[in-house]
Parts: sequence; structure tokens; C-alpha cells
Amino acid sequence: MSKSVKQVRHLKIVLLGDEGVGKTSIALRYTSDFFQENYKPTVGAAFHSKSSNYNGTVYNIKIWDTAGQERFKSLSSMYYKDCDIAILVYDITSKSTFKSIGHWERELRKNGPQDVQIAIVGNKIDLPQRSVKTKRVQMLAENKSCHFFETSAKEGTGIKHLFKKMCKKVPNQT
Ligand code: GDP
Ligand code: MG
Repeated sequence: MSKSVKQVRHLKIVLLGDEGVGKTSIALRYTSDFFQENYKPTVGAAFHSKSSNYNGTVYNIKIWDTAGQERFKSLSSMYYKDCDIAILVYDITSKSTFKSIGHWERELRKNGPQDVQIAIVGNKIDLPQRSVKTKRVQMLAENKSCHFFETSAKEGTGIKHLFKKMCKKVPNQT
């Protein structure tokens, strides 16, 4: 362990949200700094991994990504098991994907650990056709004790900030 590393932590992050909101793009932007306009993963539930050093703590992060099962609005309970962070994603240009946030939050509360840290994320802020107002989501997030972020996986806006902030919210195991 190098001198500047004070601690190593292993975190499981799950991505939730409707198909097409940009879950895979967010994971790829964070782990590989990569974006593809027509990226269509064809193979089953993927992991994306990354190690990040935030102020001397190394976070070994495993991001669980869906592979189209979200279309059925239901994911296996394995997916939620022992996750430290859940990222609930909607598309700021699509009201229906925002309305689904409530559904994904209920699924998470039902299947996930009690102490999970939750982020609600409005993605695609590079697009001009916004149909979900920031203020509205801020209030919802506050009511639900969730953190709120806006991102563009396409341009990379807010992505590092999202993961760094959320990693730091996870309390140390006793
Ligand atoms: P998923 O189904 O939630 O995993 O969504 P994907 O990551 O596959 O993205 C769905 C589509 O939205 C793809 O065509 C992406 O290129 C596009 N996309 C994802 N993130 C952004 C973004 O931040 N801005 C824009 N303009 N397009 C995005
Ligand atoms: Mg995907």
C-alpha cells in the first residue's frame, strides 16, 4: 500500500432507471471516459469497475448495470443485494422516465439494504429540450432523503462529481 493511501474500501453501486436514460453511458463515462452515440450493449448484466483515490481513501468500485431487464420494470433481488449506493437515473427530456423514479425507489426500498445511499440523477443536460424542471426534482429528492445531481454522460458534465460525492456519503463499516 503506498504511503498516501490511508484506507481501501470496496463499494457496490447499482444503476436503476428506465431503458434509454443513459445508465450504461454514465457507467462508461466514469470508468473509461468513453461515450458512444449508438452504444447498444447486447450481452447480459454487466459490471463496470474502477478504483478511485479520494483524499487518500481508495475506493474499489463495482458498478452493476442492467442489460435490458429494466424494460420489464423489475430486476432480480440479487441486483440490489448489499449495494452501498443506488443511482436512480431519468432523462431530463422525458417526463415519463422521471415519473418512473418513484417506481425504482420503491423497488430499491423493498429489495435493497436499509442504509443505502441514494442519488437521483437527471441525465442528458446537454440537450435543449428539457421537460423536467430542476427545482421540482430538488424538492422530491429532499423529501425522500436522496441526493440530487444533473449530468451529461455525453459531455462528461457532473459525472466525476456524482461518484465522488456519493462514495464519500457511505459510512465506514463498524
Ligand atoms: P440505458 O438504457 O439507460 O443504459 O441508456 P444508454 O446508456 O444505452 O443510452 C441510451 C441512449 O442515450 C444512447 O443512444 C446514448 O448515446 C444516449 N445518451 C446517454 N447519455 C446521454 C447524454 O448525456 N446526452 C445525450 N445527448 N445522449 C445520451
Ligand atoms: Mg444500458
